[in-house]
Amino acid sequence: MIDVLVAGGGNAALCAALMAREAGASVLLLEASPREWRGGNSQHTRNLRCMHDAPQDVLVDAYPEEEYWQDLLKVTGGATDEKLARLVIRASSTCRPWMISHGVHFQPSLSGALHTARTNAFFMGGGKALVNAYYRSAGRLGVEVHYDTPIDRLELRDGRFVAALSGSRRFAAKTCVLAAGGFESNREWLREAWGVNARGEWPADNFLIRGTRFNTGTLLRFMIDAGADTIGDPTQAHMVAIDARAPLYDGGICTRIDCVSLGVVVNRDAERFYDEGEDFWPKRYAIWGRLVAQQPGQIAYSIIDAKAVGRFMPPVFPGTTAQSLPELARALALDERRFMQTLEAYNAACRPGTFDHTALDDCRTEGLTPSKTHWALPIDTPPFCAYPVRPGVTFTYLGLKVDETAAVRFSGKPSPNLFVAGEMMAGNVLGKGYTAGVGMSIGTAFGRIAGAQAAAAARAIQRETVDA
Ligand SMILES: Cc1cc2nc3c(=O)[nH]c(=O)nc-3n(C[C@H](O)[C@H](O)[C@H](O)COP(=O)(O)OP(=O)(O)OC[C@H]3O[C@@H](n4cnc5c(N)ncnc54)[C@H](O)[C@@H]3O)c2cc1C
Repeated sequence: MIDVLVAGGGNAALCAALMAREAGASVLLLEASPREWRGGNSQHTRNLRCMHDAPQDVLVDAYPEEEYWQDLLKVTGGATDEKLARLVIRASSTCRPWMISHGVHFQPSLSGALHTARTNAFFMGGGKALVNAYYRSAGRLGVEVHYDTPIDRLELRDGRFVAALSGSRRFAAKTCVLAAGGFESNREWLREAWGVNARGEWPADNFLIRGTRFNTGTLLRFMIDAGADTIGDPTQAHMVAIDARAPLYDGGICTRIDCVSLGVVVNRDAERFYDEGEDFWPKRYAIWGRLVAQQPGQIAYSIIDAKAVGRFMPPVFPGTTAQSLPELARALALDERRFMQTLEAYNAACRPGTFDHTALDDCRTEGLTPSKTHWALPIDTPPFCAYPVRPGVTFTYLGLKVDETAAVRFSGKPSPNLFVAGEMMAGNVLGKGYTAGVGMSIGTAFGRIAGAQAAAAARAIQRETVDA
């Protein structure tokens, strides 16, 4: 019988599979997607957030444990387990040599990459290259991989894993690691979680999914129904404002619209609804998906003028351009009169200052609601440009509760042979909010723990069988 069955084929699953194999276990990895789409959301990533006390190859200066912890505490507003969070943080300082030994290459942070040269180590070739390297290494080490194998249920007995089932196929193993991602691609589940708003709309119907279509949450739902302990709120997710023309799935990083802080954002009624210059964009980009989700029709338009061009990462789809603001309103099919009132009120409220996009500058509005507190320059220089944005879900936070052994728990009791890693348990560390690169830190830390624990549990089961 196989020692360790791994459910999923992204970063957390691969880290678990490699660790278990290195510990001498036989490993079978079941990936829902076909080979060409393997790697889940991990294939879209670019970096992981790493603690370090001194410069480390691609990482500059230092990013000590305490600062990392404070960053996490701030973004989660305390919705984090300090013990597990610190475990992830410390693991992020030591995992890179292991990653490199499995073929992952790092490169310095790129310009336009949210100013992360100190805190985040970038994968050469992005997440796709990372997962390909891990699959190659897994193949060399003898990990068996089955693609097109979505697991729809498990056989469990008294909190113990017995087998995984995919249609009529049954895969028995001594132990199992669940690493099948969140439920962001399950549109029905998103709909149920977000419900109907006061306007009678189902907001989730207008969400786009930034990553894989294969993270349907089937195993998460199965485990919840089976009585596993859970953590997190189903409406909490990392959500970014992305180009409304992005594909429903797998648009990835290039559909992000990064010019919000350089202009204004109006909704379908041509009204502004939030301070576009509240803080540096890297600290604010992840709130805009949720803000747009609250607007009528879940759509908004990021408006800039010629002065903004060259100051942000250009989006993949061209914007709608016009030589005048009324012409832009007409091109966007927005109420022209209302649009002009909003833009004229904004332009009139901008106070003179010294524009500096690298600092919280003194260019702000006065007497306007909502105000724009930094980088507020009048929108007055043609050509004018607009990008339509919709909420783009990166990943959901509802997951299974764990302790530092990554064991799945039933009424507080850890399972002896069922473990979980990655998005399926990220909510233990990330109850809400986000700080760039922490998703891969959690998946790498807990994937490695889960793989090692599963291999050890398989060895213990082997001994029991021999002794019996
Ligand atoms: C566009 C984008 C950019 C991102 N950039 C970053 C970044 O730069 N840094 C960062 O830290 N995080 C980033 N993230 C978040 C990051 O992708 C996740 O935190 C991380 O990949 C989670 O890893 P995982 O292994 O848990 O899930 P995934 O990589 O999503 O893997 C889940 C796997 O499970 C498989 N699966 C699902 N259901 C089943 C089933 N029933 N049976 C079998 N297999 C199943 C899927 O096919 C998939 O292979 C980004 C996400 C997106 C969408």
